[in-house]
Amino acid sequence: MRIYLDNSATTRLDDDALAEMMPYFTEKFGNPSSLHAYGREALKAVDEARAEIASLIGAKASEIYFTSGGSESDNWALKGAIYASKAKHKHIVTTAIEHPAIIETCEYLEKKDGVSVSYVPVGKDGRVTPEAVIKAVTPDTTIVSVMFANNEMGAIQPIKEIGAFCREEGILFHTDAVQAMDSQAVDVNELNVDMLSMSAHKFHGPKGIGVLYIRSGVRIDRLIAGGHQERRGRAGTTDTPLIVGMAAALRKAVAHRDEVNARVAKLRDGFVARVLKEIPYVYLNGGMEHRLPNNANFSFGFIEGESILINLDLNGIAVSSGSACSSGSLEPSHVILALGVPEELAHSSIRFSLGRDTTEEEMEYTFKVLKESVEKLRSISPLFNMEKGTGSYV
Ligand SMILES: *Cc1c(COP(=O)(O)O)cnc(C)c1O
Repeated sequence: MRIYLDNSATTRLDDDALAEMMPYFTEKFGNPSSLHAYGREALKAVDEARAEIASLIGAKASEIYFTSGGSESDNWALKGAIYASKAKHKHIVTTAIEHPAIIETCEYLEKKDGVSVSYVPVGKDGRVTPEAVIKAVTPDTTIVSVMFANNEMGAIQPIKEIGAFCREEGILFHTDAVQAMDSQAVDVNELNVDMLSMSAHKFHGPKGIGVLYIRSGVRIDRLIAGGHQERRGRAGTTDTPLIVGMAAALRKAVAHRDEVNARVAKLRDGFVARVLKEIPYVYLNGGMEHRLPNNANFSFGFIEGESILINLDLNGIAVSSGSACSSGSLEPSHVILALGVPEELAHSSIRFSLGRDTTEEEMEYTFKVLKESVEKLRSISPLFNMEKGTGSYV
């Protein structure tokens, strides 16, 4: 049995999206910038995909810029805004739990360009308050960037409220909505965002394609110079098949959103309740109220997250420990630490991210294997054998 519970890392390409993409790899291979029939045929597909993606998020087609994915969109939004600003002092307000594509871009801008950055902390539930974000804003603030939903523990942030404040104050507001597109209603006007990042492979689209939505009137520098593609915003030959696949995947995700959310949340809720009840010394990271329906993230006392991951993998179950991007490093996740979780427990965090194809049988089997793995690992853990029974841990 193979069970995939790592849908926040990437998702399986949708079959219908693949079918729509195929002709643009083969007979319809033209460059959309070419004036001849081959080019026009490809351009038509790109135009249609752009219009469709725009309409699915309440935007205009001219506000959709294709990129190579979420990381590029995040880099572009921040660097583009900072480099376009003529102000002497530049300041970014973001959060302590952003994806590395935001955090490391901020660190780069701090080091290379002397930009100051405020990282707003989150509560135990993994959320910033609009008040804390507003308090961090200064007269020097160039841009505010707050992720829509967190990729590790699924906390959904108060984007609309933060956006309303930024709109009122005339401050640029960007959100990394990569984890939200699948399950949340995303309307750029309702959310009051000026820029929004997405990535197709997080909603059953192809890898290597994303969008940066840029509200008309917002001026940012371009990151990639060269040809005049994407209204001169982003050079590079337009990737027709990936763009077509992204639109197809988003269309399907939006069409089935409510039904998938309900089914996935029910499986997740049952799993969380059972883990908390039947496995001792286990802690749920993040709150349940404002959380992505497919996310469960736990810390297990006395054992390493990596050991659990390996045990589950030996049984065909794919999960992740910390964030996928930082696994391989021994640093505990900055997101789990930001929740106030002690370092040992941050080291033992495991993310289960369910998907639209996840079944009850799979979650049943996963629970069984998880429980056995935790028991087995604890039976050989000297720390556990020393401390158990005292109930004093944490
Ligand atoms: C996956 C992810 C990204 C990066 O997207 P890529 O398309 O893989 O570059 C950025 N932000 C968040 C929140 C993500 O989950």
